[in-house]
Amino acid sequence: MTSSRHSELSSYDLKSVVERARAQGGGEVDRSVPALASADPDVFAVALAHLDGAVTSAGDAAVAFSLQSAVKPFLFALALADTGGDAIDRVGIEPTGESFDAIKLESGTGRPPNPMVNAGALLTAALVHGEDVAARDERILRGLSAFAGRSLAVDEEVARDEHLMGDRNHALAHLMRSEGTLDVTADDAVAVYARACAVLVDVEALAIMGATLAAGGRNPVTGERVVSADVARDVISVMATCGVYDGSGRWMRSVGIPAKSSVSGALVLSVPGVLGAATISPPLDERGTSVRGHVAADILSVELGLHAFGRLT
Ligand code: GLN
Repeated sequence: MTSSRHSELSSYDLKSVVERARAQGGGEVDRSVPALASADPDVFAVALAHLDGAVTSAGDAAVAFSLQSAVKPFLFALALADTGGDAIDRVGIEPTGESFDAIKLESGTGRPPNPMVNAGALLTAALVHGEDVAARDERILRGLSAFAGRSLAVDEEVARDEHLMGDRNHALAHLMRSEGTLDVTADDAVAVYARACAVLVDVEALAIMGATLAAGGRNPVTGERVVSADVARDVISVMATCGVYDGSGRWMRSVGIPAKSSVSGALVLSVPGVLGAATISPPLDERGTSVRGHVAADILSVELGLHAFGRLT
């Protein structure tokens, strides 16, 4: 990165982004489990993690929230790392044009369509190494902590409720069992995935997770190599095509930054070679994307020139 680019990023007024995006109303908080339903709809924060290790944030940056589907890129990364890349053959990488929990597998192969929808994440969580549920949970928590550069913890109430109440996830796991795609029991697959979704972060930790991918798999704050550059490239590619579910095409056209949305209202963004970013604001649009997070991402993309295809002239 050039030094002028660097000073432009570090002096950028994130507070103003939060103020402007906060004006955007609308959206509904997710109601799938009590902890998400009771989230404060006014919480809003934005963070940037630069590849030199500097992290900046504005808004309610101290608020903790569960990763939910923002964990999916990192589960895919850990599965790729643990299987030596074989995970790429076990899960598809095509966008579905459908919602995150559609009960559908790839026709002909019985594989999940991609790792950014629930079917795919149930599978990638099951592919992370560990001889039983506890060992896999442990490996996932350690891996996510390495991405964030700090020791993360699970919200036990969210994990328990999502395990018990995630009927569509149980259905997807059973469907994959019947196709021979899933090696572990359906209940174990849902348990591990639910725990991964329930890992707590704040907006700065999530931005650092995005930055670790953007830096080719090396955490820019701790310096630890978490995954290989090939794994980071594969993950960011699939975030770009599938990260916002049936809104991925529109998102890529307008924001132009590989990203992953989640029902807690979190968004994680990775701009390869430049920065990671994250937002948290619980009200969601009909595709499960944070309404204010989307506006903030639009502003960041335009003002920092982050659109992947925006510098063609
Ligand atoms: N834990 C949630 C679920 O499986 C995650 C979904 C999401 O964030 N879109 O339903």
